Amino acid sequence: MEKLNILGTGHAMTLDCYNTCFTLQNNIGEYILVDTGGGLQILKQLRDSSIDFRKIHHIILSHKHTDHILGLFWIIRYAQKFLDSNNYEGKLNIYMHPELESTIRKIMFEVLPKKFTDLIDNKIIFNIVEDKEERKILNYNMKFLDVYAKKDRQFGFKTTLENGKTFVFLGDETFDEKLRQEVQNVDWLLHEAFCMDSEAEIFKPYEKMHSTVKTASEIAESLNVKNLVLYHASDNDLKNRKRLYTEEAKQYFNGNIYVPDDLDIIEL
Ligand SMILES: [Zn+2]
Repeated sequence: MEKLNILGTGHAMTLDCYNTCFTLQNNIGEYILVDTGGGLQILKQLRDSSIDFRKIHHIILSHKHTDHILGLFWIIRYAQKFLDSNNYEGKLNIYMHPELESTIRKIMFEVLPKKFTDLIDNKIIFNIVEDKEERKILNYNMKFLDVYAKKDRQFGFKTTLENGKTFVFLGDETFDEKLRQEVQNVDWLLHEAFCMDSEAEIFKPYEKMHSTVKTASEIAESLNVKNLVLYHASDNDLKNRKRLYTEEAKQYFNGNIYVPDDLDIIEL
């Protein structure tokens, strides 16, 4: 069964949950890691999800913000012991848009010692992808999509799962109408929701190009998607977040709603 292993569900500044990132797990237990969160905790989240790093050969990065890429530096430190001991089959592939690749490369060569950077372009491959480019990753035909982010350039992707369902990841900014054709009628949509509608005055999601649960749900309804995953959320009421967000989403969206906590598993 294909699954989403939710590693983190928070926005950039959450302390009580990890930053938003997840793995897509295929039918034979291989993973694509999508974003890496903001730090060392990515390794804890993978461990606590019982994900064997040797089953991750593909990492997709959406954009350059700290809460999405800095986990990668720790993954590379961690990967080194596997890659250098030949305790890892094949190469580790990282997919990102051109500007992001140059950012990552620059920082990496500044901050990582040689034994780690020696792996880059050797056992760790940086794959530059363009808007609308399709790449075969595991059994998935991934179509990379510029999500028209207002802050920094950001890519999501669309794919068809092994079970035949369509799946769209849109990074961490509100859906842009220019993507309607790609997203309309999909089975799975992953969309950010920064806070509830009643909290918009406090957290000001719109200023950050984020949505409330209400606006994200209205978008999903207008797109006729079947399953909506809401994440990249606040942690101010983590204990009740799943219940409260789900209740709000239900008022505006008729499909299935998922408001995961860290380490939740969603069967696709
Ligand atoms: Zn973010």
